[in-house]
Amino acid sequence: MKQEIKKLREFILNAKSLMVLTGAGISKDSGVPTFRGEDGLWRNYDATKLATPYAFRENPKLVWEWYNWRRSIILKAAPNYAHFAIKKLEDMIEDFLLVTQNVDNLHRDAGSKKLVEMHGNIFETLCTGCGHVKFEKKVFREDELPPRCGRCNSLLRPNVVWFTEPIPSEVLKIIFESIDSKEAILVVGTSLFVYPAALLPFIFKERNKKVFEINPEETDISCFADISIRGKAKEVFEEII
Ligand code: NAD
Ligand code: ZN
Repeated sequence: MKQEIKKLREFILNAKSLMVLTGAGISKDSGVPTFRGEDGLWRNYDATKLATPYAFRENPKLVWEWYNWRRSIILKAAPNYAHFAIKKLEDMIEDFLLVTQNVDNLHRDAGSKKLVEMHGNIFETLCTGCGHVKFEKKVFREDELPPRCGRCNSLLRPNVVWFTEPIPSEVLKIIFESIDSKEAILVVGTSLFVYPAALLPFIFKERNKKVFEINPEETDISCFADISIRGKAKEVFEEII
């Protein structure tokens, strides 16, 4: 076993508290594409430009076609070993919180309960008129797009946080209040390009708490992380657990 993996394993075995932050990389081994690099292209559109309120205002049908395509991929995906391993950490460590940037519901499917979906959930719709939220694991029919509210007939949007939109304040409150009691953060599969999620490891560092990372690529926190493991989430967790 690599030295760094061994060190993380030892920490976990004795940990009283932990925050875990996950991003799109953890679901890549489940077959869910990330947003960046070649992965992020759909019909030659750039994912980071479709996940915006501007794109939705300009062309709701196009944005919904993209979300419908993403729903269809995610519906076929199942949680992988890394998702289940994080559920296991929740069971082992008394004071635990999982903060995910993912919208794919795979952490819930793996059984995680102490979690905050910071960027929402792709299977929820939010009515732009009456605010009604509905969770439904389905793909819309082509002729249903863009979908409308059954109550007030306004446009429905995916209940996710788009680029340039703020994180709901009640969600931020849960996350920031939880930092105080945590001795460490484990960051898995995120490029840390998206704020405010990217701030979390820096806050931990500044407060002299431990920072751990699992990512096949180096990121902005690799140079100061207490443990930085270069590897795929699934493979690294297979060694740890
Ligand atoms: P990102 O696409 O910016 O970065 C993905 C990161 O995962 C990269 O650092 C990459 O090196 C790493 N990675 C790739 N393969 C990996 C593996 N097998 N194991 C571990 N790490 C791996 O993703 P982000 O930082 O989460 O930011 C993108 C934004 O888009 C977020 O808001 C996220 O919610 C959203 N998004 C979500 C999903 C999803 O729900 N599955 C998918 C795409 C994008
Ligand atoms: Zn409505």
